[in-house]
Amino acid sequence: MRADMRCMAQSGIIYLVGAGPGDPDLLTLRAARLIERAELIVHDGLVSREILRMARSDAQLISVAKQRSKHTLPQDDINALMVREALAGRDVVRLKGGDPLVFGRGGEEAEAAHAAGVRVEIVPGISAANGAAAAAQIALTHRDASSIVSFVAGQCKGLKDQDWSGLAGKGRTLVIYMGVKTAPQIADKLMEDGLAPEMPVAVIENAARPEMRVLRGLLAGLPDLVSRERVRSPALIVIGEVAARSPSGGDLATDTTLARIATEAAQ
Ligand code: SAH
Repeated sequence: MRADMRCMAQSGIIYLVGAGPGDPDLLTLRAARLIERAELIVHDGLVSREILRMARSDAQLISVAKQRSKHTLPQDDINALMVREALAGRDVVRLKGGDPLVFGRGGEEAEAAHAAGVRVEIVPGISAANGAAAAAQIALTHRDASSIVSFVAGQCKGLKDQDWSGLAGKGRTLVIYMGVKTAPQIADKLMEDGLAPEMPVAVIENAARPEMRVLRGLLAGLPDLVSRERVRSPALIVIGEVAARSPSGGDLATDTTLARIATEAAQ
C-alpha cells in the first residue's frame, strides 16, 4: 500500500455539519446522528446549548468561539486542529451555525482538509435566512411581492465598495447577515443606490430560539430601530416589500413599531 493511501485509510473523517439556527428540531437527521455519536466536536459560538447537550457525556467539545478576550481562534489554527485530529485517526464533527457553506467558511475548511488528504463530508443545515423567514413568517419570495432573493454579508472588508446595486428594490428581497453593527452604513449605502427610504425592513434577532424578536420598520429608520431596540447579534435584516406583509396577507401598517417609524420618517 502506498504511504498516502495508508494515511487515508487510517485517518478520520471531517464532517462539516450545519446546526441550523438554534432549535434542535431544525437539525437534519444526519446532523443529529453525527452529533449524538461524535467523540470530538469542534463548534463555533452560534451553536445553541440545546444542540451541544445532545452530545455524549464523554464527547470532547472544543469551542472555537469568541472568548472573553474577543478573539476567535484564527481560521488556520482551526484547520490545523481538525486536520491533526483526523490524521491521528479521530473523526471530527465540525459544528457550525446555520449552513456550513453560507458565510460559514466551510469552503475553506474543506479545502484545508482535502489538501491534507483527509476525507470530508458536508452536511447542510438550515441557514439563518430560511430559519428566520419561517420563524417570523416572512416569505422570502412571494408571487405578489418578490421573485428574487439575495443573501449578503453586512460586515465585510470594504462594505462601502461592495456592489449591491440591483439586489434590493421592488420585487426583490435582500437578506443581510452580520449587519447589526453596520446597520447605519447599510441603510445609507442602499439609499445612495436609490432604494426608497420607505422600503420595509424586518430585523429578526435570535431566530428559531425562545428569545426571538421580530422588529419591523422602514429603511430610513433602520439604524434607529437597531439602536433603540438594542438589537444584538445574531440577527438578520430583511429588506423588501415582503418584510411588511403579515402572515394573514395584509400589510403591517397597523404594527406599532412600523407606524411609529413611519411617523418619524415623515417628520
Ligand atoms: N452559516 C450561518 C451564518 C454564519 S454568519 C448560516 O448559514 O446561518 C453569522 C450571522 O448569521 C449572524 O451575524 C446573523 O446575521 C446570522 N444568524 C445566525 N443564526 C441566527 C439566528 N438564530 N437568528 C438570526 N440571525 C442569525
